Amino acid sequence: MRHIGFVGLGIMGSPMAGHLVTAGYDVTGYDVAPAGVDRLVAAGGKAAGSVAEAVADADVVVTMLPDHPQVERVVLGDGGVLAHARPRTLLVDMSTIRPETSVAIAEAAATRDVRVLDAPVSGGEAGAKQAALSIMVGGHAADFAAARPLFDVLGRTVVHVGGHGAGQVVKAANQLVVAGIYALVSEAIVLLDASGVDAEAGLNVLGGGLAASRILDLKRASMLAREFTPGFRIDLHHKDMGIVLDAARRANVALPVSGLVAQLVAAARAQGHGGQDHSALLTVLESVSGR
Ligand code: NAD
Repeated sequence: MRHIGFVGLGIMGSPMAGHLVTAGYDVTGYDVAPAGVDRLVAAGGKAAGSVAEAVADADVVVTMLPDHPQVERVVLGDGGVLAHARPRTLLVDMSTIRPETSVAIAEAAATRDVRVLDAPVSGGEAGAKQAALSIMVGGHAADFAAARPLFDVLGRTVVHVGGHGAGQVVKAANQLVVAGIYALVSEAIVLLDASGVDAEAGLNVLGGGLAASRILDLKRASMLAREFTPGFRIDLHHKDMGIVLDAARRANVALPVSGLVAQLVAAARAQGHGGQDHSALLTVLESVSGR
């Protein structure tokens, strides 16, 4: 398990691939954007000019791509992972995508004797940089055990949550909670500001009581400064809220709060904040109050 092919070297993939190099793995990376490949080479990894080149000698292939169309193209497409990986290669898709695509990819891979785990992450760019991600893994227990040393390089909370697609369902649950907390922290800021109460002092108190959260800890200063450099882009959280509502429909349940929060994230995107950090939800909550 020493040779890793890494496809998708963006905000998350770059630091993750860098940690694997530091841990002694032989990492060969590919990204359609040359900047990501350059970063990997600077960190001590190797450049590949295509997906095929990245996976040809790999024991493990890690993908960290935006959404299911990119994962489908990279894994199933001409010149993709399944066309070029050796038998028994372990494909670990760490992208956040819809659960049914993870299941379909695992089924397609099985016909080529390629093993698959869905292993989406939580913890954001900071978690990726600090190797402190939470990793939720779906797939066979034996494959999880084989990949565990690699996960331990990247994260602190690593849990095998079930069969193929289960990691993505857990990630959907994570994303609905995160978006909901951002929406409520934003409403708290709007109320404090509009009431003439110092919002910084107010949020400091919230951070010490029952309303405390990692989001309050990590993001209150940047939200109060209206500093929305990503981080995690609104565009990606909009994608994730689509996954949440789709998964709810498939599970035959109603998630009314998630439905409302999904519309607020959609509004952020429609108002031109798609490229900003998801904490820019504050802008939408301010605009609905005319602020
Ligand atoms: P990103 O856009 O920064 O990185 C994705 C990379 O994939 C880009 O460098 C892009 O050039 C590359 N890419 C796209 N299509 C490709 C293809 N066909 N072949 C090769 N490379 C291709 O996104 P990110 O923020 O790193 O997020 C990646 C995944 O992780 C997403 O599914 C996201 O939802 C999830 N995620 C992100 C965060 C975060 O805080 N940014 C946190 C948790 C999970």
